[in-house]
This record gives sequence, C-alpha cells and structure tokens, in this order.
Amino acid sequence: MADHEKPSNFIRNLIDADLAAGRFAQRYRPKVDAQSTVSTVDAAKIRTRFPPEPNGYLHFGHAKSICLNFGLAKDYGGACHLRFDDTNPEKEEQEYVDAITRDVKWLGWDWRFGDEINQYFASDYFASMYAFAEKLIEAGHAYVDSQSAEEMRATRGTLTEAGKNSPYRNRNPAENLDLFRAMRAGEFADGTHIVRAKIDMASGNINLRDPAIYRIKHATHHNTGDTWCIYPMYTFAHPIEDALENITHSICTLEFEDQRPFYDWLLNTLAELGCIAQPVPRQIEFSRLNLTYVVLSKRKLIQLVDEKHVDGWDDPRLPTLIGARRRGFTPEGFRRFAEMIGVTKSDSLIDFSVLEECQREHLNETALRRIAVLDPVRLVIDNYPAGQEEECLAPNHPQQPELGKRPVPFSGELWIEREDFSEAPPKGYFRLFPGNRVRLRYGFVIECTGCEKDAAGNVVAVHCNYFADSKSGTPGSDTYKVKGNIHWVSARHAVAAQVRLYDRLFSAEAPGADGGDFLADINPDSKQIIMAQLEPALKEARAEDRFQFERHGYFVADRVDSQPGTPVFNRAVTLKDSWVKVK
Ligand code: ATP
Ligand code: MG
Repeated sequence: MADHEKPSNFIRNLIDADLAAGRFAQRYRPKVDAQSTVSTVDAAKIRTRFPPEPNGYLHFGHAKSICLNFGLAKDYGGACHLRFDDTNPEKEEQEYVDAITRDVKWLGWDWRFGDEINQYFASDYFASMYAFAEKLIEAGHAYVDSQSAEEMRATRGTLTEAGKNSPYRNRNPAENLDLFRAMRAGEFADGTHIVRAKIDMASGNINLRDPAIYRIKHATHHNTGDTWCIYPMYTFAHPIEDALENITHSICTLEFEDQRPFYDWLLNTLAELGCIAQPVPRQIEFSRLNLTYVVLSKRKLIQLVDEKHVDGWDDPRLPTLIGARRRGFTPEGFRRFAEMIGVTKSDSLIDFSVLEECQREHLNETALRRIAVLDPVRLVIDNYPAGQEEECLAPNHPQQPELGKRPVPFSGELWIEREDFSEAPPKGYFRLFPGNRVRLRYGFVIECTGCEKDAAGNVVAVHCNYFADSKSGTPGSDTYKVKGNIHWVSARHAVAAQVRLYDRLFSAEAPGADGGDFLADINPDSKQIIMAQLEPALKEARAEDRFQFERHGYFVADRVDSQPGTPVFNRAVTLKDSWVKVK
C-alpha cells in the first residue's frame, strides 16, 4: 500500500491539521542538553517517540505502539526517537536496554534521522529536570510538602469532594528552595519531604491537585549511579523529556488521558519561565492492544518466566517479540497486523487469530515449500525395482513459478503420514486404504494392497504397487484420476529432525478472567516435541529460514538450537485456523 493510500485515523487527522496550520513549522532542532548549541529549523516534519521503560522485554502490545510511532514518522518525513524511560532508579537493567534495541530493529525500524542518532535515556535529563523544578519553586509554582504520605492521601479529596490545602502550601519560595537543595544534598530520609506543583486542590481533575514532581529516594541508578538521591516523578519527567527532544506528537495509551491537563500545564508553565521553547508537544492518546489467549502485562510475563511455566523470555509461546521471532513470526506480519487493527480511542479486544492470519499471509507469500512427514509410517512399493531411485520435481512456491523447482529423491520405500492410511476408512476418506489409489504428490499413482502390524496391532508398514507410467509431469500421467493426494519422503534419503509443535500458551480467551488464577488457564498441550522425517533439502536450512511444510503449516529453523546440518524446527502457525469458535 502506498503511504498516501493508508487509511486515515484520528491521529493522522490531528497531524494533518497541525501541519496545515504550521503549528510546528518554526521549531528548532532538539536541544537535548545544556551544552548543545544547534539552532537551525528542524528538518523533521514531525517528531514522535517510543519510550519503553527498560524493565522487561517488549511484547505484542509494544509492537502496536512501535509501528504507530515509527510508521507516522516515516510517512510524514519525520523522526521517531527511541527513548529509554529510565527515571525510576530501582528496576532498570542493561539486559533490557539491549533487548529492546534489538527488537525494535528486528521489527524493521530505525531511529536515525539524517545525521541524528535519536536514541536517548531519560536519565540524561536529570540535571535539566532538577533545574526546571528549581525554576518552578522560585516562581511560586511548586513547594516542598513535609506531610506524611498518609496525610497527603487523606487531604487529596475524592472524585466528588475537593482536596484540602497542605499546611506547607504557603511556604515562601526561598524556604522551599533551601529545602529542595537540602533534599538533593541527601540531608533527609526517603519519604520525609516531597516537591509538589502548586495548582489547585479543588480541581475536578485529581491529577491537578498539587501533584508530586520530585521525591527522595536513596537508590543507585543504573546510569547516573549515586549522583542523585532525589528522582523526578514519571508525570513530571515525561513531558520534559518530550519537550527537550522537540517531540511534536507525544502518543500514549488511554490511561494517560487524565494526565493531559497536567502535561499541558507543566509545559506551558515551563515555556513561560523560559525553560523550554514554544510550541510545546501535543499529547495524543489511543487505546492499547488487548489480545485474546495471551497476557500482555509485564508482571504476568515475568511470573511465567520466573516460575518456569515457559522456557525463558524467548519461549516461542510467549507474546514477547523475541519469542515471536523464535516462533517464526515475521516483522512484516506484525506491521501488517498493526495496520489492519488501526488506532482508535475505544477499548478493543482483538482475537489472536487476526495476528496469526497476518503472519500466515506473509509466510504464505514468502516461505518456500518443503516436504516433511511429522508422524511417519513406512510405505513399501512392492513392484518398484529393488535398488532403483529417481528424482521427482517439486515447485518451490506454487504461486511464484520463477522460484523454480527442486529435485526430490524417490525410491521403493517412503515415509508417509500415519493418518494418510486407514485400514477401515470412514466415509469420505480418500487417502490410502486397501484397494484405493492415491497420487504421491509430484510422483506416482499407487494402489494400496494392505499393511503389516506388530504384535500390539499397530500398523508398522503400508504396502502398495505403483504405476510406472503415472509419474507427474510425464505424458499421459493425468489419465489416472484419483481423489487423494498425499506427501512423502524417501526413507533412504530423508533427514530425521526434531520438530516442536507449538500451540497457544493459554486455552482460555481471557486467561484468569473474573479474578481466577491466569496460570490455571495454561494450555497443557502448548508444546509437543516430535521427530519428523524431512526431505533432504531441509538439511541445509539455516537458523531462521522459514518454510511451508506442505499440508502442515509454516515452520522456522530454530535460531538457538539449530546446528549446521542438523536443523531443529518450530511450528509458527498451522495452515488454517484450528481455533475457530464452535458455539
Ligand atoms: P508497565 O506499565 O507494566 O511498565 P508498559 O506496557 O506501560 O508496562 P512501557 O515500557 O512503559 O511498558 O511501554 C512503552 C510504550 O509502549 C508506552 O508508550 C506504552 O503506552 C506502549 N504500550 C505498552 N503496552 C501497550 C499495549 N498493550 N498496546 C499499545 N501500546 C502499549
Ligand atoms: Mg509504562
């Protein structure tokens, strides 16, 4: 789809209106630290950002936000910043920073714009945030409150009742400044004082009732070490980060809608004080992604990993991007999905099959076809000359003949799927049963003559005769009319390989709904490990190569466990949705 044909949405409409009005036309390039001196008009038409907190791995919900922010920047000739929102000193880790960087790149996005790198850490702005807080205090827009947390809670009021002013609200600016500096110098214990914006304790919006902007926290920060023992609150830090980076459209999820008045108050007040430039960024909210059959809360994901319900953050069943990658899902599939679901302001629950279908579509277009027998039973062609072998030709992609055909070796003993033979076939069964004919796909027509069983009655081999003049692609082969068409691999040439059949991790649409334990909804059959027989061409599969195994689905060579010459395969998705609701 060309960019101009992309369906519009309320965010695009807002951006279009801002651009038409020239609202952001005269901005300067970002001035992200006190030393930078650049002052040329910003070449980026818009600036958006993706601001993850580096305290977990990215999940499918983040993919929606990433595709939205980076996609808008790309379409409008703008820049999207990758900003690590690391203002909380206790939880962040380098491991997550690395993982997030890698996952956003994997999705195909780039935060560079011209010669700008545009990867930022919110903690790099601590000095500016502190300076801005001093300015607010000096101007009488903020004060140090020395009430206990409990007292503050008690005076905040309710949705219907105004709050009460703190007894410290009218401290004069000089006293506030002294206290704030003493807070910074480490003279007080955690929780003894807090800085609050001075707005309106009677506001109908609780977020404007003198919200906290700085707190004392004697904690070591992964980036700034022990430089600070006071840290900005998220709601104070985030607007400043946006402003310092010259973000034009700060797009976030709906739960921040009630914060927008404070976002606007803070930035306009700081602009009046000369701390930042006008025009200030505009916050826009959209509804977050909710998906059936998964959990997207970091807390629950961490629990699944820590309690070993899954095999780590990259378990192919987890809704993390690193898990999806290992599963064989594609960046293009995610981008297609993000475009298909669009953005709105109303809460929505998307069925997991929508994501699977987007993945399937892209895999169908791009994955080479290969043959794999997942539940093998031996097929013996009794009239095939002993010791003979030959080649059959199989197309690499039926809709893309330019991808050519490959030779598949054929011999008198093959592996076929156990379910493609039935001694006592049910009505409508067109595959192998004694007396019936089928075509061995790309090969010959055969007629079943019977089977061998072991002492327990299990079928150990199926017998048949073949018709030497029925080989696919040879003249006259189509005079054989058969209803069944089954796949096979030559037993002598096949490669045995481990295949993991993954299915949904949860068998309930809304795991843990109605207050239940979400762990109780884990699907006990979400991972099955089998040994399959593969056509020899698959032996050379490299990690992350994706294929359609004919009649089965889409599979990827596992990026962790595959070795050269001995690939291990993961099922990404079946050919058809097997979870269609039967009600
Ligand atoms: P938590 O609140 O548990 O820390 P989070 O999902 O908010 O988790 P962040 O790292 O803060 O995690 O998220 C980064 C960005 O991704 C935010 O802008 C957030 O709005 C967005 N985001 C997170 N989850 C979703 C979701 N389900 N749908 C759309 N966007 C999301
Ligand atoms: Mg968050």
